[in-house]
Amino acid sequence: MVNYLLTLAIISSMNKNIVIIGGGASALMLASLLPKNAATIIESNAKPGAKILVSGGGKCNITNTLMGTEYFLGDEEFIQPALKRFNEKALLQWLERQRLVPVLKKETQYFCKDSAKELLDIFLKESKKQKILTNEKVLDVSKRDEVFYVKTDKQTLTADRVVVASGGLSFPKLGASGIGYEIAEHFGHNIVKTAPGLVGFTVQKDQFFFKTLSGVSTDVEIKVGDVVCKGALLFAHKGLSGPAVLDASLYWEKGKIEIDFLPGFSWNSLKGSKKQLSSLLPMPKRVTKAFLVQLNIEDKIGIKITVDELSLLQTLNHYSFAPAGTFGYSKAEVTKGGVNTDEVDVLTMMSKKTEGLYFTGEVLDVTGRLGGYNFQWAFSSAYSCAKFLTRDKNEN
Ligand SMILES: Cc1cc2nc3c(=O)[nH]c(=O)nc-3n(C[C@H](O)[C@H](O)[C@H](O)COP(=O)(O)OP(=O)(O)OC[C@H]3O[C@@H](n4cnc5c(N)ncnc54)[C@H](O)[C@@H]3O)c2cc1C
Repeated sequence: MVNYLLTLAIISSMNKNIVIIGGGASALMLASLLPKNAATIIESNAKPGAKILVSGGGKCNITNTLMGTEYFLGDEEFIQPALKRFNEKALLQWLERQRLVPVLKKETQYFCKDSAKELLDIFLKESKKQKILTNEKVLDVSKRDEVFYVKTDKQTLTADRVVVASGGLSFPKLGASGIGYEIAEHFGHNIVKTAPGLVGFTVQKDQFFFKTLSGVSTDVEIKVGDVVCKGALLFAHKGLSGPAVLDASLYWEKGKIEIDFLPGFSWNSLKGSKKQLSSLLPMPKRVTKAFLVQLNIEDKIGIKITVDELSLLQTLNHYSFAPAGTFGYSKAEVTKGGVNTDEVDVLTMMSKKTEGLYFTGEVLDVTGRLGGYNFQWAFSSAYSCAKFLTRDKNEN
């Protein structure tokens, strides 16, 4: 009895219906879409939306004109309905209504014009209508007699609906934690194995020479299994990074990858040329020279290249090696894997195991490629959830 009274005493008297765990992209969109005073956000950081601010090189790559399930890892049948309900056009229209007109860059990617703060400011303004608790860490969630108990490091809140929007494990310095998976497991959900995604590769001994090229970038095509990722590769002091590498990391588990360092290059152009290889090959000179050292070929003029040397040079079209690993969660933009989407309702994002429990955003086993797909997913899944919660609420 004493324990029972004690428990009651620590339960906050707030009568908010919905508790949203995490104050990131997905939570902020959800909070913006819900009616006034419908929800309480609990965020462990001092401010919500920390990842939005650092995303897309500080300009936040919000979405992409090329939108479809083919740009995501995860169950197509789960992803498609949410994307269809709130696609990139709907997102852009919503942003426009908030007076944010993103700019199109790299042909298909939408970014904030000057700073990611433009997007965060909109969310902060829109989600003001909800209660936002910051510097407060959720420790666990339980459910008794149809009531959820959300225990934080400061209090225990009650709720009749809980939305887990706590993201994945990437970038712990920005607040990432495994709480979403712990809550899911507590309620009987399975977690699809997690791994760092959109992350650089570390290299083995044979590729240590890459590190000497740190800071140099070159356009490549990377083959991982059947997938080809095109774009810039950046040599880094830890190994390899850059957009093409980050994208490739989504499809890599272990084993070899193949890099075409000279995509589309016509080897015929070497014939009869009096220019040196380091000028002829369309790569930064430092990169060409490093490969020439590795291949034991002199930086000679095209005309003097032997047949054997030519075939050695052509291995640069399919340079194959096994990365040692990845840079890990501390540098990964996303977390692959997550809450098994077979156990979550495709239209509402509600758990099929526990009524009133929802999952949105990166905590789910849905991962987008580089290019604005992860924010689009965070927003689309939040929209589905908000749609249902609003309807649900009106009906009650
Ligand atoms: C450096 C970087 C750049 C990126 N750039 C882009 C980009 O340009 N475009 C794109 O589409 N995607 C980008 N991403 C990925 C994108 O940021 C995420 O996929 C997206 O933010 C996921 O949204 P979310 O709301 O699910 O999770 P998050 O945005 O991660 O939000 C989860 C929130 O939950 C909070 N939290 C965690 N545990 C607890 C707890 N126990 N108690 C209370 N709060 C907790 C966290 O502090 C965090 O604020 C980038 C990621 C990084 C790290």
